[in-house]
Amino acid sequence: MSEQGASPRELEAENESLRARMAYLLEQAERNHDIMCRHQAFDLEIVGAGTFPDLIGTIFRSLPAICDLDIVTLCLVDPDADIHTVMVKLGVAFAAFPQLVFVDSDSALGFVPSRSAHLTAPSRPLLGPYVPSLHQAMFPQPPAGLQSIALVPLLRNKRIIGSLNLGSVDPGRFTPALGTDFIEHMASIIAICLENVISNEMLKYIGLTDALTGVYNRRYIDRRLLEEIGRARRQAYRISCLYIDIDHFKSVNDSVGHQGGDEVLREVAGRIKAELRLSDALGRFGGEEFVVLLIDADLESATMVAQRIRSSIADAPFALSTGETLPISVSIGVATLDDFERDHAIEGVAQQLVAHADTALYQAKESGRNRVVRFDE
Ligand code: GH3
Ligand code: MG
Ligand code: MG
Repeated sequence: MSEQGASPRELEAENESLRARMAYLLEQAERNHDIMCRHQAFDLEIVGAGTFPDLIGTIFRSLPAICDLDIVTLCLVDPDADIHTVMVKLGVAFAAFPQLVFVDSDSALGFVPSRSAHLTAPSRPLLGPYVPSLHQAMFPQPPAGLQSIALVPLLRNKRIIGSLNLGSVDPGRFTPALGTDFIEHMASIIAICLENVISNEMLKYIGLTDALTGVYNRRYIDRRLLEEIGRARRQAYRISCLYIDIDHFKSVNDSVGHQGGDEVLREVAGRIKAELRLSDALGRFGGEEFVVLLIDADLESATMVAQRIRSSIADAPFALSTGETLPISVSIGVATLDDFERDHAIEGVAQQLVAHADTALYQAKESGRNRVVRFDE
């Protein structure tokens, strides 16, 4: 043996340093395992998010803690503001998410464009110092002392749907030299989840609205009425229902064509809506019939609203895009739920309310149209 034998003391020292190194590695392994578990829990949480607010709420709440970041924001590409509009209609309170930014084009995000046909390489994350003049739009409320950032493209089918923006007060946290595999992987999961909840929300919206006029459909009104009756019973306020039908709509179609008729339907919906409160609900029940639920309105005030709607339609002729103008009128039946009939099933009470409004509408038609009739027991 060419090597000299080590003394027991040297062996002991070596042993000790090996033990210390082992303890350090174990600690590292435990820490990494812990990080991995937290990331897995995060992935499960975002994959399980059922709604858009759920998903972005989880991202903004959990990601800074898991990744030890000082800020996380999201930009979403929304060219015609479709996503924003639908979310607003579904009641998403954007004020609660100042870290969410809508942009109308992916070029606003500053990633290397990969548009030309032969260039299929996806855009890469941008890492480096935070420069307010360049990045303020992505960080609307930057934390004090924000130093380094990572802007990670959210890609679906090679299309940029947005960006995940990470920020730290540590200038060394994100530098151009840092590997990006991990954050790109995280962004790919977030992109899938975002696309998924956005299409779910869009489907939900389509399922509850009338495509022609943009107001709610019958399914929504039926459901909403059940909820409102339950609440009205608990809180003892009145609900009224207006059943609105356009007069002689067949002859409108005959004179201005089906397209013109569709334009009239949209305008009628708009004029009705303009007379309502935010808490009221307007739905198209098919054809040229609309139903309005007036929340916390007795027969007297519901009749006043109905009269306002009737005159806002009859008093100004409708101007079509073809240049034609024509007079339009509606007949309206009004009914109120003031006896809460607590011992009856909500479904039956709801059907009866709408049926009473429909009966009153029939009387309005019978007595000459362009009028409001109340249902009297
Ligand atoms: P009344 O005063 O008694 O209500 O007469 P009306 O002509 O309005 O009567 P009715 O309810 O029988 O006619 C409804 C017409 O509405 C028949 C149908 O052609 C038309 N209609 C139904 N849905 C649509 C639609 O989506 N677009 C257009 N343009 N017309 C529709
Ligand atoms: Mg009708
Ligand atoms: Mg009609």
